[in-house]
Amino acid sequence: MLKYNLSYWERETFFKDFDVAIIGSGLVGLSAALHLKRTQPGLKIAVLERGTLPAGASTRNAGFACYGSMSELIDDMTHLSEDEVFAVVEKRWRGLQRLRQLVSDAYMDFEQNGGFEIFTEEEEEVFRECCERMPHFNRVVGAITGHPAPYVVADERLRDFGFRGAAHLILNRPEGQVHTGKMMARLLQLAAQAGIRIFNGIHIERLEDSSCGVELQTSVGWTLRVPRVLVAVNGFARQLMPDLEVTPARNQVLITHPIPALKIRGCFHYDRGYYYFRDVDGRILLGGGRHLDNSTETTSEFGPNELIRSALVQLLKTIICPGQPIEVDAWWTGILGLGPVKKPVVEQYSKHVVVAVRLSGMGVAIGTLIGEEGAERLLSL
Ligand SMILES: Cc1cc2nc3c(=O)[nH]c(=O)nc-3n(C[C@H](O)[C@H](O)[C@H](O)COP(=O)(O)OP(=O)(O)OC[C@H]3O[C@@H](n4cnc5c(N)ncnc54)[C@H](O)[C@@H]3O)c2cc1C
Repeated sequence: MLKYNLSYWERETFFKDFDVAIIGSGLVGLSAALHLKRTQPGLKIAVLERGTLPAGASTRNAGFACYGSMSELIDDMTHLSEDEVFAVVEKRWRGLQRLRQLVSDAYMDFEQNGGFEIFTEEEEEVFRECCERMPHFNRVVGAITGHPAPYVVADERLRDFGFRGAAHLILNRPEGQVHTGKMMARLLQLAAQAGIRIFNGIHIERLEDSSCGVELQTSVGWTLRVPRVLVAVNGFARQLMPDLEVTPARNQVLITHPIPALKIRGCFHYDRGYYYFRDVDGRILLGGGRHLDNSTETTSEFGPNELIRSALVQLLKTIICPGQPIEVDAWWTGILGLGPVKKPVVEQYSKHVVVAVRLSGMGVAIGTLIGEEGAERLLSL
């Protein structure tokens, strides 16, 4: 690996007098940087990113602009109180509006085609429970979203989509989808325009907080001292802070080649949300299946899992697009940050360090708000 010291020129020109360093240039790190700059334009901010591009979840996700399908929320209520679950829904909804304000719809191809939950015949009981609770959910989530009846049974759409073995469909009308790549490209552009310095290829191996600020040890050999640090590394948090309750979780994702006359439009959850798919550029993006091999997928390393990949292909060919010649164009993986409950961690970690991590698979929705919360914490140190 490349190891070197900074030259005098490099030290004095590129790394001098930063007020704040943000570790991680994902959605959270960039939103935090933009918020800091808007709140205090004079701040000198460095974003330190180990990848050539952001290398975690923000450029590798599915782009669902979603705040919760019914069975997902009902399941969440087994771990959290109803009020807590709806508070997260409210945050996801508010976060999405904030993201749309920040990036603007046209820059990220935002489309509001709805979020669909598919139920198989074996899931009749879960579907019935969703139907029973739908009026209550519509009241509460309707008040949050301003939509009179967000959730509706949409079985009549099943024939249009052509799925095999699907018995029921619930549509969540206000949900949408974004082009993840364009969203992140716009955020990077906004950061550059605001004078935020983003340094790629800098992996922070260790940070040490003392009375004179925070010393950041880079993997290339030199260190950087800054007064305040925001750690926005989501699923990789334990590499820097082993005591944080954040578990990395890898997700396998595929995209097909363009499919002529593709019928699917919108975002779909299948098999209790274990699988998710959507249309994009006339193709299908499909991911999930982590539950098939949880222990292998509890990792912060990118890489394939053949068991899960063949399950995804099987799902694509037999259930989603039965009888059609579908070709996979590409595969990738992304790393989520999970915890015992579906709640991010935004807190002061030490005297000059704040963490904003563990987005729990909801980062497109809440990443902007979490970044801004982290930035506010940092300003209050
Ligand atoms: C496959 C997949 C699908 C998803 N789909 C959706 C979806 O449809 N809707 C939704 O709301 N959410 C979705 N998510 C979740 C969402 O993408 C994340 O919650 C969000 O992107 C997290 O943003 P972040 O900035 O916190 O983390 P990240 O985007 O992971 O950013 C962290 C950054 O820190 C960098 N980094 C880590 N350690 C270091 C270090 N030591 N030094 C320097 N840099 C470091 C990483 O390279 C990375 O760029 C999905 C996630 C995955 C993986």
